[in-house]
Amino acid sequence: MDQTKIDALRAQPIAAFDHLIGGKRIPASDGGRMCIISPIDGTVLTTTAAGTSSDMETAIASARAAFEDGRWASQPPAERKKVLLKWADLIDANALELAVLGVRDNGTEIGMALKAEPGSAAATIRYYAEALDKIYGEIAPTAGDILGMIHKEPVGVVGAIIPWNFPMMVGAWKLGPALAMGNSIVLKPAETASLSLMRMAELALEAGLPPGVLNAVTGEGRVVGKALALSMDVDVLVFTGSGATGRRLMEYAARSNMKRVYLELGGKSPNIVFADAPNLDEAAQVAASGIFRNAGQVCVAGSRLLVEASIHDEFVAAVTKASEAMRVGDPLKVDTHIGAVNSEVQLKANLGFVETATAEGGQVVTGGVRMLEETGGYYMAPTIVTDVTRNSTLAQKEVFGPVLGVTRFASEKEAISLANSTVYGLAGAAWTTNLSRAHRMVNAVRTGVMHINTYGGADGTVPLGGVGQSGNGSDKSLHAIEKYVNLKTAWIKL
Ligand code: NAD
Repeated sequence: MDQTKIDALRAQPIAAFDHLIGGKRIPASDGGRMCIISPIDGTVLTTTAAGTSSDMETAIASARAAFEDGRWASQPPAERKKVLLKWADLIDANALELAVLGVRDNGTEIGMALKAEPGSAAATIRYYAEALDKIYGEIAPTAGDILGMIHKEPVGVVGAIIPWNFPMMVGAWKLGPALAMGNSIVLKPAETASLSLMRMAELALEAGLPPGVLNAVTGEGRVVGKALALSMDVDVLVFTGSGATGRRLMEYAARSNMKRVYLELGGKSPNIVFADAPNLDEAAQVAASGIFRNAGQVCVAGSRLLVEASIHDEFVAAVTKASEAMRVGDPLKVDTHIGAVNSEVQLKANLGFVETATAEGGQVVTGGVRMLEETGGYYMAPTIVTDVTRNSTLAQKEVFGPVLGVTRFASEKEAISLANSTVYGLAGAAWTTNLSRAHRMVNAVRTGVMHINTYGGADGTVPLGGVGQSGNGSDKSLHAIEKYVNLKTAWIKL
């Protein structure tokens, strides 16, 4: 990464963003604007359109018209593939510009942002572009005088509501498979981190995606997001965000057209370290980065560290050392390990969790405080709290910030029981050299992904999805395509 190039990009003013509807940039119908605040220094970066429910209806109508006339859905797969591959290439070609733009409104450290945002988004779009002409229908094993066929049809109009932590990566997880299968889309980025995703959507048009197929509306979730979820003309709603919003979306779907709703929600993922872990120093380093990268604003963050009692003190000391070695600061400096918390609201919520944890008997061994307040930005020291009990707030509620709770266990049975003691089930890990125990842990911990002797690794070939209140349906891999198609049976009497 070239610091000079990054500095030059950050010095550029950011033009105001409008909605993207029918291939055009359109302001809010009532002229409303939202200020976008930089978490790096608290200054106003630019404005976006503050959408109204009527703007959302216009965007949905645009997506519907595009779907019905087949300008995208009826194109030969090879043509759709060309456009999506070109889009991936454009994202790659503009990767640094997109990453810096994204860091300026969401605060992720640039090293991670470059890989996880444009890097991962381009790879995801490319993966589905390459897959789309390899997906076949089926012939059913019927009686000889019947031809039974199963077609996979696009669902129609997809609504996609995106969170602020990794807007491009999560956006691509929805846009890639939905567009590959011929659907039209209305995208709703998060209030505080929309810029890079809006720019990425514009690049799709430059790549040749017909106008109206991908529309994007900015604004408040409770206004435009709600209008999208309540629409009678959206067929599938896909969402990544908090459980509270996910619950509302299910209600909105029930109150409107019973659209299918797929949710990727939060987690309280257990990172379980046994005394027979292969390398405790490495486990400590990975435990620290597994919770603190992107200031803990990672859905799969290993936010509960469960440690076998015999190594508890030694291991906590090692994780503390690793955490204190991580540099917190300006996310656009290439040597920063932990960037900014996304907003002041989130920072206050994080600090509130530390206060509650202390009141409930937890011991803060490092961090627990705001940092670099003089910059005007929102920074928090990586925080470790020990003596966290099974039912305490820090063990049960997602912080979505740089706060690690530590609980000791005495046996494998107790570790499993602690791991499964929340309403969530998104990710987890176990560290052990005992192969049988490793398999037992994979089977016993209720979660969407279970790591062994690592934390957080994944690529586009495997699904990411939760169980319990971490969500339903999966992003990534060929399985994600199932969300964006209807199965249609043709039953033909010969
Ligand atoms: P959030 O639920 O507050 O917001 C997410 C999106 O929903 C935003 O675009 C917001 O505008 C919109 N929204 C808010 N209220 C709405 C409403 N009433 N109707 C419709 N839309 C509405 O969540 P957040 O704070 O942006 O994201 C953080 C959460 O996301 C965390 O809980 C985190 O774990 C989760 N997350 C999960 C994954 C995953 O893959 N499982 C990935 C990233 C983040």
